[in-house]
Amino acid sequence: MIGTATAAAAALAAAAASARWNWWRPKVRGLASLMYHKIGDFPPGSRLKKLWVTVEDFRRQMVWLKEHGYTTLTFTELREAEEGTSPMPARPALVTFDDGYSNNYELAFPVLSELGMKGNIFLVCDTIGRHNAWHDPASESWLRMVTWAQVEEMQGSGVIEFGSHTVTHRNLSEISLEDAAWEVRESKKRLEDRLGRPMVGFAYPYGAGAFVPEVRARAREAGYRYDFSIKQGITPLPWRPDAGPLKRLLIRGDDNMLDFHLNMTRGRARF
Ligand SMILES: [Zn+2]
Repeated sequence: MIGTATAAAAALAAAAASARWNWWRPKVRGLASLMYHKIGDFPPGSRLKKLWVTVEDFRRQMVWLKEHGYTTLTFTELREAEEGTSPMPARPALVTFDDGYSNNYELAFPVLSELGMKGNIFLVCDTIGRHNAWHDPASESWLRMVTWAQVEEMQGSGVIEFGSHTVTHRNLSEISLEDAAWEVRESKKRLEDRLGRPMVGFAYPYGAGAFVPEVRARAREAGYRYDFSIKQGITPLPWRPDAGPLKRLLIRGDDNMLDFHLNMTRGRARF
């Protein structure tokens, strides 16, 4: 009786584990674009806790990438590898951060520098040196965003490349096409004028509009090489724009290393 109950419990636990962890999925090769937002400990009352990854977890994840033979790239390095002017690494990865929080500068930049790795930050250009004004402070307290001086220091180090995440972080599928076109074009222009280099990468705020053909057409016309969705997965290489926007791997604050491993190899940690 006890034996049967134990076996049943074990079967149930195994089913629960496979429902959470995607062991059964085939391994996927291609470009792993990790998506982070905030690094550090979440503030009291945060309703977006899962978007905060502690610096200890972040470091552990970056060490895992190194130990498993991944090469982290900037957008420009990816483009060069795709164009054949430099070799494509066996396991390419992009470490991306959305929004441009100052905790990226304070906590993630030193880890990447120390480990000799690269990262990419999508900036909301109107909020640089200010705060995340698009968040309702009832669900997420206002946070400091990177300053221009920090952006310039990170760019100068060669560790971080910047991309655009629009001017004001509006939902591009909920505004007029004219306004959406302005958000993608104007942010590219302002960042390029200030930083003196082309903006190669773009990420849709909330992932919105990435799969709306008219909106995506505006982002493509603005001249970005890579446009990033928040659709979960690993992007097959070589990538062509007509294959759709690049996918990403959401790294959650409550992920353990097993989740991370499955994300990197299966393109998905959980359902
Ligand atoms: Zn965002």
